[in-house]
Amino acid sequence: MADPIPPAFHSVEHDSPFSSCCRCERPLDEIGEPYVINKQFDRGECVLEFALCQPCHISVTDDMSEESKETTQKFFEENTDMDARSEELTDADPEDWIRHCIACGKIPNSKESFSLGGMVMDGGFVFDPYPLMVCGDCQSEVESRLSAQTKRRWDRFISDHFDGPPENAEAPPKRTPMLI
Ligand SMILES: [Zn+2]
Ligand SMILES: [Zn+2]
Repeated sequence: MADPIPPAFHSVEHDSPFSSCCRCERPLDEIGEPYVINKQFDRGECVLEFALCQPCHISVTDDMSEESKETTQKFFEENTDMDARSEELTDADPEDWIRHCIACGKIPNSKESFSLGGMVMDGGFVFDPYPLMVCGDCQSEVESRLSAQTKRRWDRFISDHFDGPPENAEAPPKRTPMLI
């Protein structure tokens, strides 16, 4: 049986699992394609969340410059050990998979930012290598290596598909979504 989508990967805005792709707006339960979920947290609050169907995920990733794609990939290759992780985390308990930053291993405290990535296929939550968590420090590290072109494209993706920040947010979610 398919693993249910854990509450940590539900939409905070809709208080339920994500229902449509943020880019093409197709209903996720009808299109029969895998999709990824990305949520970013800052000081305990979700500041950005979205689901992207596979074709949209591919085109958004393709929009990154080659150089940025390579540096992002290199960062995670150098800093993560997916095999060790997959041996260690044998239980399908999402909490275990997102407890430590996938790159530096730290557990962010309540004042720090982090982002979550998950994947759903055939209605079931996918394990290995997702779900995963990247701490704000590692995210900043990757961001600092992205090309100006990639950053501009991300800014446009965010402004095209998302409203401004919630009223209570102090800073707009300017972070580059982690698509790994
Ligand atoms: Zn889509
Ligand atoms: Zn980290």
